[in-house]
Amino acid sequence: MSKIIGIDLGTTYSAIAQLDDLGNPEVLSSTDENRKITASTIYVSGDKVVVGDKALDALTATPKNVISETKRQMENDVAYSIEKGEWVEKDEAEENSYTPAQVSSFILSKLKGYTSEVTKAVITVPALFAEKARVATLDAAKMAGIEVIELINEPTAAACYYASLPNVEKISGKILVFDLGGGTFDITLCSVEDQNVDVITSRGDKWLGGKDFDQEILNLIDEKYKKETGKNLDLNEGKLKFLEIAEQIKRSLSVKNSHAEVIEGPEGPKKIEITRAEFEQSIQMHIEKLKMLLEECIDGSGHEAKEISQTLLVGGSTRIPIISKTIEKVMKKPPLTGVNVDEAVAAGAAIYAGLKSKDSLNTAQKKAIGKVQLKDVCNFYMGTLVQRDDPILNRKVTENLVVIERDTKLPAEETTSVFTIHDDQHGIDCSITQSEGREENREFVNLIHQGDLEFPDKKPKGREIEVTYKYDTSGVMHCTFKDVSSDKKYEISLRPESAEDLKKQYENIEHIVIE
Ligand code: ADP
Ligand code: MG
Repeated sequence: MSKIIGIDLGTTYSAIAQLDDLGNPEVLSSTDENRKITASTIYVSGDKVVVGDKALDALTATPKNVISETKRQMENDVAYSIEKGEWVEKDEAEENSYTPAQVSSFILSKLKGYTSEVTKAVITVPALFAEKARVATLDAAKMAGIEVIELINEPTAAACYYASLPNVEKISGKILVFDLGGGTFDITLCSVEDQNVDVITSRGDKWLGGKDFDQEILNLIDEKYKKETGKNLDLNEGKLKFLEIAEQIKRSLSVKNSHAEVIEGPEGPKKIEITRAEFEQSIQMHIEKLKMLLEECIDGSGHEAKEISQTLLVGGSTRIPIISKTIEKVMKKPPLTGVNVDEAVAAGAAIYAGLKSKDSLNTAQKKAIGKVQLKDVCNFYMGTLVQRDDPILNRKVTENLVVIERDTKLPAEETTSVFTIHDDQHGIDCSITQSEGREENREFVNLIHQGDLEFPDKKPKGREIEVTYKYDTSGVMHCTFKDVSSDKKYEISLRPESAEDLKKQYENIEHIVIE
């Protein structure tokens, strides 16, 4: 029988968890390194792909063959060129290159090997992951031979894990999940009552995480090296290696007040010391940003910090002491300790997989997680572009019309009508937009799909088109544009139905051996 599996496909680290016979989510260790988290880094050479920390060993000798932070590329039409050692436009990519979905499929294939019989899984994505990136994640799973039960937002998975903990009924209320990883920052506010998790709202920054802190430490090292020797480090050549050293220093500063390291530079080795205070000073700007988003999330929910009963920490970067201190200042109480920041997301995904496969649960599993319930929300405004007459400008303008509001409970279905503005119009553009703010201006929205609806006949202006958006619990959209008078429709599901493209992508990697 297929196992009940949850996967945290992270920017920096990934993890796979399985629901054990007693209903406890167990994060599985890698078979080769016996670690519960696997670096989301791969090394490619010919037909061989190495996934995990071992891939990092190749950084010095063959850095171009090492691919990391693929998740940040999931929404882009790019491919990693081994020859160039960077992401390039997909159209310009030569043979020896890999799409973000392909690279992610290698990571998923590796994780799948930590246990047997993985055929289905719940996979997690950041709350603010764009539609296209969600679809690419589904593609990656397909290529790895995993059927996705559902995609679930990372902070929501962590909340789900929290709700399943024994005795949690006694400490329920409004819970804030603060997830700071290597590349992204997500905060989600939810309400947990009797193991029912209701997501209220999420905020975040796709470009804020531990990597930014590594860069700040590298700047400090470089500055100090120059002060001592008069020369800067050569960051063109060995930048990735230096960033690895910077990361080690950062980790050490989470437990010590200062750290000294011998740095090899153009003027020979020099011992450089960095203190925790210097580090905290260097990341001050990022801390301000985190604080601002935290406050925005609470304000946006219509609540006050004092009404929130617990803050749950998720993600490796929450181990940095100044992060907890900042949270404590805003929330007026320290964050909850005791929840494993590396494992909560994968564990929560496994619990959610169990909830979605209730028929295959045994009695003990049902007893352990059966009461957990989850309601998530749509994290974007989903809209369409419409034309209207602007009496002030005296011309037609294109603007964004919101169809589904942000924070609408999922699954959601909304219908709105739009009308033609010309006589005898041949058809309309069916555009689908996504935005984090409530935008009318087309410049500020992401156009995620464009199609046409041709009318079968001619009619005077004012012809009605019904626009229906359905947003399922995986965060995947189904859209219909219907010409009311003729019933003719344009329909699109923003799902990985680009079967041809996917087949081609799969054929390119079929022969690859994953270690
Ligand atoms: P992601 O969700 O992006 O895959 P993780 O939640 O695994 O990432 O967090 C990875 C980040 O956490 C990295 O930037 C790593 O340097 C950082 N990190 C892990 N442990 C520590 C620590 N003890 N002190 C500071 N940062 C840490
Ligand atoms: Mg993460």
